Amino acid sequence: MAANTLVLYAAPGMGHMISMVELGKLILKHYSHKFSVTVLYTTGSLVDTPTIPAYIDRITQSHPSISFHCFPRAAVINHHNQTLSMAALMFEFIRQNDPNVRLALQEISKTCQVRAFIIDLFCSSSMAIAKELNIPTFYFYTSGAAALAAFLYFPTIHARVNQSFKDMRDTAFEFPGLESPLRAVHMPEPMLDQNDPAYSDLVYFCSHLALSDGIIANTFEELETPAVIKAISEGRCVPHAPIPPVYYIGPLLDKEKASGSVNSDEECLLWLDKQPSRSVVYLCFGSRGSFSEAQVREIANGLERSDQRFLWVVKKPPVDNTKQIHGVEDFDLDALLPEGFLERTIERGLVVKSWAPQVTVLKKEAVGGFVTHCGWNSVLESVMAGVPMVAWPLYAEQHLNRSALVKEIKMAIDVEQREEDGFVTGDEVERRVRELMESENGRKLRERSLKLGEVALGALGEHGSSRRALANFVNAIQ
Ligand code: UDP
Repeated sequence: MAANTLVLYAAPGMGHMISMVELGKLILKHYSHKFSVTVLYTTGSLVDTPTIPAYIDRITQSHPSISFHCFPRAAVINHHNQTLSMAALMFEFIRQNDPNVRLALQEISKTCQVRAFIIDLFCSSSMAIAKELNIPTFYFYTSGAAALAAFLYFPTIHARVNQSFKDMRDTAFEFPGLESPLRAVHMPEPMLDQNDPAYSDLVYFCSHLALSDGIIANTFEELETPAVIKAISEGRCVPHAPIPPVYYIGPLLDKEKASGSVNSDEECLLWLDKQPSRSVVYLCFGSRGSFSEAQVREIANGLERSDQRFLWVVKKPPVDNTKQIHGVEDFDLDALLPEGFLERTIERGLVVKSWAPQVTVLKKEAVGGFVTHCGWNSVLESVMAGVPMVAWPLYAEQHLNRSALVKEIKMAIDVEQREEDGFVTGDEVERRVRELMESENGRKLRERSLKLGEVALGALGEHGSSRRALANFVNAIQ
């Protein structure tokens, strides 16, 4: 009898690769006697980093049941076509790789029984190929249930609007299972403009979610409200089609980051060790989040006036008015910050350029609060560390995450952002940081966060909800 394997298809970029590999590791941790795992990945995309090959080597050594299948460089894609958004380029690049997916699945099927094909959101175009080959296809969905409900419901909204969301300033949408409506302009940004080809790609992806054999979600049931879980499972988010099962198997963190590979001598970790318990607010906006010079100065002023201890990760400001940068580029930190800021706050603050070992930082006893862009990995890391948040969404599905965190999960406080561009004043930074670190409300959030951290561990434990969900997934593919 042929051996059973699961084929996981990672979207380009280190972050996507790590998520898929972590899923593979989780499955193998409990079911290595049943399956091996093969990870398919592309080469030649704009978001490839030189660290990927070394990472793959390391995983191959440490996890021999995971093998990697690298596609040849995709042929024709003009990454320098500035008229296409990053998301549109990504979808297009992946479509170009569809023939490679077919070849890989056929090749692997010669020696193994492919029990499931598990894809990232961006890889939706490959689902048709797996279906043709009679291979059950599952999504690995790496955000929370609120955003999942919204994505599932998006095609229904799409069918009734004929205007771009970015032009619908006065409109808000209700979503099944979500307590608060979401403003049209806060929908994930590839959806904002109907003229961006990524918009149709997103409609395609969202309608395919419900056509898959199941959705594996990186969250856990107890983190989410019963209303949203129910709205999804009862099919209210997809009114005209059956909904496949959703397996809430998280929280799945990047174990590499969470454990050893961080250098414990790093300056910010040594600094944190010297600060009092729960006294430091940590500010970091994901792998890409970055601010204009004016916004950086405003944050600095707010932090200075807040009188709180802080650890702040600052990235190079973007060249255009987006809120993201790609890659790590050096820059002059001193010139960016208000004059004398570093000297005046030297006793109680540390500014780190570009990157901090976040998982380790959040677990430090000194950290008492986290100002975050609400990227889902950051949220889960904060939950696991029991650290309450100030929610400052920037892009992608982060406004949806913010709303869930503040209103439903109740682990964060809101920050007031300027209507047109999301700008936050220094006064507001000061007010929210103080509220999180000093107020009764902050104390309550901290208590709740610590409790949720314990619940998360329970979910992953032997009799926990996430372990059961993983078992249900495995039963479904046997
Ligand atoms: N991260 C980090 N140090 C930084 C910035 C980010 O370790 O200075 C990690 C963070 O721990 C998380 C990931 O990068 O695991 C960011 O993922 P998230 O989903 O929060 O946001 P994204 O970068 O996708 O917007």
